[in-house]
Amino acid sequence: MSVPEEDLQKYQRAGKIAREVRTEIKRTVTEGMPIIDICEKVEGLTREKGGKPAFPCNVSVNEIAAHYTSPPNDKQTIPEKAVVKVDIGVHVDGYIADTATTICFNPEYDDMVNTAEEALAHAVEILRPGLSITRFGSEIQKTIKTRGYKPVSNLTGHLIRRYIIHAGKSLPNVFNLSTSRLKEGEIYGVEPFVTVANAAGRVDNLKEEYIFRFQKNKSLKNPYAKQILSYIKKNFLTLPFTERWLTKFASSNNYKSAFSELLSSKAVIGYPVFVEEQRKTVAQAEYTILIEKDGCAVLT
Ligand code: MN
Ligand code: MN
Repeated sequence: MSVPEEDLQKYQRAGKIAREVRTEIKRTVTEGMPIIDICEKVEGLTREKGGKPAFPCNVSVNEIAAHYTSPPNDKQTIPEKAVVKVDIGVHVDGYIADTATTICFNPEYDDMVNTAEEALAHAVEILRPGLSITRFGSEIQKTIKTRGYKPVSNLTGHLIRRYIIHAGKSLPNVFNLSTSRLKEGEIYGVEPFVTVANAAGRVDNLKEEYIFRFQKNKSLKNPYAKQILSYIKKNFLTLPFTERWLTKFASSNNYKSAFSELLSSKAVIGYPVFVEEQRKTVAQAEYTILIEKDGCAVLT
């Protein structure tokens, strides 16, 4: 099944915005730059160009593989010689584009960053209807191993649907036993994560969480928590958000306890920051692609 023309146009608009933001931020990031400035620049450009952030901009440095975004008043800066993954999500009316790039300030890792890009380029070459997810994983793994690196085995690409970033189906970057095959009209975030050969090649969860999303309605004791939850549902629906987008509530003395209740009740859930198990540096490259009749189209 192909994607209805109207939906496709919105995916394409989101994709174009995401691509432009990716290009601009690549030129902007420098060593010593406050991470919060990168996040706000990406999210601001997204809005200026007529999209909305589909999730908070992720800025994940060195051994942090994904899911770091600045909390409010973040003081962290890009360290010298850093390897910086910037992961950008844009949506137009719920149609999502998800793309990432690695900005490398350490020549030692240039080749590893190129490997992530090459694995992504190879994915674009092979993606087509009927391709098995097992075969896909093996091909990506082989591309990365041949160059002397290791794929991160527990971070995967994912099917995208309207307002849903991880829509159930995963696209692992290693050999796997999935029985599933790709279908025409499906949209995927394709994202090889690459690390050094002597790394674990897996990520662990840190305790810290800076990215959240609405999970389900719960009865809440604190009326202020109810108010914040209805704001979250109205503005972000099922998409991830950051506390930086809740600043209109943050000046209240009740904010901290209200937000804690949203988490403890599981009305809202957090995404833990992912770190490479051996604390080795990780690179990432990501496009959103559409599976077409004879192959795939890159939307970002
Ligand atoms: Mn992404
Ligand atoms: Mn993704």
